[in-house]
Amino acid sequence: MSAKRIVVKVGSGVLTGEKYHDVNPEVVSRIARQVAVLIKQGRKVAIVSSGSVAIGARHLEVGRRDLSIPVQQAAAAVGQSDLIGLWANGLGAEGLKVGQILLTHDDLANRRRFLNARNTINTLFDFGFVPVINENDTVAVHEIKFGDNDTLSARVTNLIEAGLLAVLSDVDGLYSSDPRLDKDACKVDIVDRVDDSILAMAKDSSTRTGLGGMASKVRAADEAARFGAATIIIPGAKENSLLDALAGKRIGTFFFPHENKMSGKKHWIEYTLKSQGSIIVDKGAKDALTLNGRSLLASGITDVKGDFESGEAVDIVGSDGRTIAKGLVNYHSPELARIMGRKSGEIEKILGYKIYDEVMHRNDMVFSG
Ligand code: GLU
Repeated sequence: MSAKRIVVKVGSGVLTGEKYHDVNPEVVSRIARQVAVLIKQGRKVAIVSSGSVAIGARHLEVGRRDLSIPVQQAAAAVGQSDLIGLWANGLGAEGLKVGQILLTHDDLANRRRFLNARNTINTLFDFGFVPVINENDTVAVHEIKFGDNDTLSARVTNLIEAGLLAVLSDVDGLYSSDPRLDKDACKVDIVDRVDDSILAMAKDSSTRTGLGGMASKVRAADEAARFGAATIIIPGAKENSLLDALAGKRIGTFFFPHENKMSGKKHWIEYTLKSQGSIIVDKGAKDALTLNGRSLLASGITDVKGDFESGEAVDIVGSDGRTIAKGLVNYHSPELARIMGRKSGEIEKILGYKIYDEVMHRNDMVFSG
């Protein structure tokens, strides 16, 4: 595989071996050796590593099953320094140095912070350092969480425009059903496109420790595919699994990227931004958007729902209630309530100013389905 930039996602289950609390530094060294080879080949590698909660729980002497959110957050705070230490040691033995990056969903939902994070990672690459990324669990409550590091790794793939997402897991790929329950379960080697049947398979199989399980890995692969990146799900603790997979050996499950990839900005709108409201449009506006490739104008808007600022993501919804597209809106909701149904030429008279003719520009819009 020729990917110049690779995101290597390492799950807690890969680092901890059979017993949840025991982190195995040998596995870190094994992965570090392979990362060093990839970097010597001239590639840039960012690691997304879980493990802070698992490690922290051991220090706090609490069992993993019954951790409340505050205890998980405390465990993450305690475990993160050990986790970064493990990577610093493992990669250090290969002559590589690390930079720690902790992100929340909110960080990537803000375009300026998204670009700042990208700049920092690119600067680390310029210095030859390896970014080691995790969710900032200490501050991430539900609303601003990625939820699991599979999702985070897909966002990082978009963030750094990587060509490959390598998900190192404690299972050796996607199975047709759960291999522990079904002796006829077989491994899927290649996925052209994530569809309902693939998602159904993923729902049936699970991983040992990770938060996301197989379903979130497959969703991450789909998200990466839309951005034009391939994904491999491979057994992470196995010697050389990453290099073998890159050399084309039949290992794990390979997900093809889509041919018509979304631009980085559209991918960001679709996956990273949460919709803050909706704009209801009439049939004329719907046709102009879907059939004629036009931007959204005020004249076709019949209703505005929710309370949003300009620059935020909102859905465009047809009169039948179906979402047509999602995108960045140029006017905030009280302005829209005043100009909806009116011609662009009237906007200035109504508001006393006009920012744009378009309520939502075509280039800031992603269509559903
Ligand atoms: N961020 C969590 C940790 O470091 C892990 C999340 C996950 O396993 O997906 O423990």
